[in-house]
Amino acid sequence: MKKPTLLVSACLLGQPVRYDGRSKPVSGPDWEALGQRFELIPACPECIGGLPTPRPAAEIAGGDGNDVLAGSARVWSAAGDDVTPAFIDGARRTLEIAAEHRCAAALLKANSPSCGNRRIYDGSFSSTLREGRGVAASLLERHGIPVWNEEEVDALLEAGDRPMPG
Ligand code: SF4
Repeated sequence: MKKPTLLVSACLLGQPVRYDGRSKPVSGPDWEALGQRFELIPACPECIGGLPTPRPAAEIAGGDGNDVLAGSARVWSAAGDDVTPAFIDGARRTLEIAAEHRCAAALLKANSPSCGNRRIYDGSFSSTLREGRGVAASLLERHGIPVWNEEEVDALLEAGDRPMPG
């Protein structure tokens, strides 16, 4: 039987796509179980939005990903560049990939301005987290694709083949 598909942040699958040119691979029994349960579909919203790797870190100022999509907040790089268009384009393309592969859910990197599903950095570049979602996570949730993070794998596995938000 064909496995359900799960969209996954590419950096969590070992691809060196983070702003610092590194990955953030996760392993362990839960991840092995995840790979047995789901076909994992990698995507990096910032890369497919056209940003280079490595790149300056970025944070959302004035809100979260939903506010960026609504036009009331912007994404700024640590170098002072407005990278909002690339983040929005990357989010849209990520949604297209999820739709193309019929992903039932997504498992994205926590705290990222694109992928964070619960918290993001607050725009002050002072390592301060606030509640809110990244741009891609917001767009996926808006379209009915629940987003989990790498610290919620056990809960995602317990939720079954049609996982809902934890
Ligand atoms: S945008 Fe998402 S997938 Fe890409 S490096 Fe950042 S956290 Fe990882």
